[in-house]
Amino acid sequence: MTSQLPRRLALRGDLLDFTGMPEWATIETPAVRFRPDHWVLIEDGRIVGAQPAAQPPDESWERHDYRGRLVLPGFIDTHVHSPQIDMIASYGTELLDWLNTYTFPAEMCFANPAVAHAGAARFLDALLESGTTSAVVFPTVHKGSAEALFAGASARGMRLVTGKVLMDRNAPPSLCDDVVKAERDCVDLIERWHGVGRNSYAVTVRFAPTSTPEQLQMAGQLCAAYPTTYMQTHVAENRDEVKWVQSLFPEARSYLDVYTRAGLLYSRSVLAHGIWLDDNDRAAIRDSGAQVAHSPSSNLFLGSGLFDWNGAVQAGANVSMASDVGAGTSLSMQRTLADAYKIQALNGQRLTAWKALHSATRGAAQALGLEREIGSFDIGCTADVCVWDWARGLVAERRDQLVRDLHERVFAWLTLSDERNLVAAYVAGVKRHAADAATAAQQEVALPA
Ligand SMILES: [Zn+2]
Repeated sequence: MTSQLPRRLALRGDLLDFTGMPEWATIETPAVRFRPDHWVLIEDGRIVGAQPAAQPPDESWERHDYRGRLVLPGFIDTHVHSPQIDMIASYGTELLDWLNTYTFPAEMCFANPAVAHAGAARFLDALLESGTTSAVVFPTVHKGSAEALFAGASARGMRLVTGKVLMDRNAPPSLCDDVVKAERDCVDLIERWHGVGRNSYAVTVRFAPTSTPEQLQMAGQLCAAYPTTYMQTHVAENRDEVKWVQSLFPEARSYLDVYTRAGLLYSRSVLAHGIWLDDNDRAAIRDSGAQVAHSPSSNLFLGSGLFDWNGAVQAGANVSMASDVGAGTSLSMQRTLADAYKIQALNGQRLTAWKALHSATRGAAQALGLEREIGSFDIGCTADVCVWDWARGLVAERRDQLVRDLHERVFAWLTLSDERNLVAAYVAGVKRHAADAATAAQQEVALPA
């Protein structure tokens, strides 16, 4: 949709965000900031304040009235694969078979620049349609796939962290690069896109088995040479994968240690999964300031295992929330968080709505070092704001009528809602997605000629 940035914009609704980190399994916490029926004020794309509905902003503000609806910071998805919406919901395999059978063939198509371009646009629109305004993304090994994402995110004003995937072994030849060419492509992408607009580069190691030790060393050197870039990879997702890494890197103490030895573990490292880590690994993550991108829907779908979130909390390791589409089965962060709750239930733990929601907003922003830009309604943050219906459909509407307190209401919302509850998504103060506009456009198409 085409929208322009109004200089002064005010959105009215029930504002919910966090001012700090909610404790594990604690419902009463000062970290929750709920301001029912307030205006959030946006000037030149940034949050400048909030005030009660009884004090409406004057005529100099463009006012959008969403009273009775939930207003949240845009979601942050810290691990998701853009090409994999082409093979999401594929049947019958665990991680290593799943990669060979479904993922690699889908990723090969992205060698074609037209496919990469269209795929990036579809993927970014799908994120916005789910209320996700910032993401840490794996494209494919092809330089053009990263380029298409950077260009697409720039056009939409979205906060994006991505980089071309590094793979130089144990993958089909057409998906393999080599150390020299990969380094040249990374440097070129970093110099042209990193820090440009809202883009950041991530040195992107698919996972230890698909990179030679030489490529991992090169990746570590890139991180050292460009210390403001991120690093993203997978770690300890599946037991067969862990055994494979052990056999490929017998000198390493653990799977995570392969990355540590290559200089890939630091505060900007985003490590997907981290299910099969030990205490030493968790301590190393804490000491480095890196984060685990917990991917509950994916872990359930591929049968990878049950992430010990509380163990990570006890160890002091950062945890953020990720859809990991296409092993995850939805870009919706509510569905992802509802799956996270179920994983903790199987672990004998209780995940509060606060801990869950925080991990997909302020918590993720903090782990990425971006808490001054995204994840909350703090003054000065970029105005990535989503408006949601509290309830859609008879079941959710009934449940919403009967809630007794705010936590119960938000927990029921997280459990029962999805992208269909999204009313509008604003990115840096510009309305980029509106459910009503989409519906109207569909109706228009459906009209007889
Ligand atoms: Zn993944």
